[in-house]
Amino acid sequence: MLIPVLTAYEKEHISERQTLPERYLGLSDEEMARRIAAAKATLGRRLVILGHHYQRDEVFAFADYTGDSFKLARQVGRHPEAEFIVFCGVHFMAESADVLSAPDQQVILPDLAAGCSMADMAEPEQLEMCWAELEQMGVIGGASRVIPVTYINSAAAIKAFCGEHGGVVCTSSNAVATLRWAWERGERILFLPDQHLGRNTAFKVGVPLDEMVVWDPNEIWGGLEPDTVKRARIILWKGHCSVHARFTVRQIENIRQQHPGVRVIVHPEVPWDVVQAADDSGSTEYIIKQVTESPAGSIWAIGTEIHLVNRLARQLEPDRTVFSLDQFGCLCSTMFRVSPNHLLWVLEGLVAGDVHNRIVVPDDRKRWTKVALDRMLSIQ
Ligand code: SF4
Repeated sequence: MLIPVLTAYEKEHISERQTLPERYLGLSDEEMARRIAAAKATLGRRLVILGHHYQRDEVFAFADYTGDSFKLARQVGRHPEAEFIVFCGVHFMAESADVLSAPDQQVILPDLAAGCSMADMAEPEQLEMCWAELEQMGVIGGASRVIPVTYINSAAAIKAFCGEHGGVVCTSSNAVATLRWAWERGERILFLPDQHLGRNTAFKVGVPLDEMVVWDPNEIWGGLEPDTVKRARIILWKGHCSVHARFTVRQIENIRQQHPGVRVIVHPEVPWDVVQAADDSGSTEYIIKQVTESPAGSIWAIGTEIHLVNRLARQLEPDRTVFSLDQFGCLCSTMFRVSPNHLLWVLEGLVAGDVHNRIVVPDDRKRWTKVALDRMLSIQ
């Protein structure tokens, strides 16, 4: 299980960490569903609820819009009438929503402990240090440009750094187009925080593995020699998703033996060898599309978070067989933190005029974070 740990950034800005009152514990599923629906109806168009695919069903059911990070980020700007955006997802998603929303809109994360272990692997101070060391190594400077690209699964301060240094935010939906965009503007990319998405995407567009290096933020000069970095086309930050890193080639071999004819599709946050052994890979939206549009009788093993897999399985049975590539299922425990109890608490708070767990990105970070996010939204 992942233990949610607040980053230095979060500790700095969450001054009043509000926790679930006791009266919201021990409620029956029926009572919570009834009261959530009632609060939603009372708030009407003042409220929009966004739900990520990895959310549990009892929460997902109340989302006005569902999707991956990219799709949900797009929804933010489409609802200027909503006073409150309740983001059923994790901290970095709510931060992005706050940056993309209008000044009079308030973004709420039902449980502030819903973080992301991958996002926590890139601290702003580490990125500043990395950039300074790349300058010392002669990788940045003169005619040599490095474009910083951060996956949306990162803190706003990381996104702001990328925006200010000519870079961009990407998602798994537009990663290929984003890398092409970046290479048109500089000879090298610094990709963070997910080394796997960076490696899988760069390989997909034809960059060989020996033109990629991994930067370890806990080592001097990333643990690399200057000449090695200068030969690379992409510098991959040493970060990963603890959930997707659990998928293995061995699992794929076993599944193929047990289910002849199975198709294996994985998210690009899984390691490179797993993508190579699978039949296909792509964002959660891509996975849903491929599986949903497959012919009746298809059998799918999916390498991503278990809630998405189980939901697809229920929707598509009995025409198609869908199951997780990992027999125990891979659960994102921080996504799971957003419970119906938390959702009920924040919604009833809004009805009563109390805003709990608002996410606010400081103004000095907003400007460049927005630049990086707007560039992301413009790249398809
Ligand atoms: S699945 Fe991985 S990358 Fe996504 S929120 Fe959970 S820990 Fe973060």
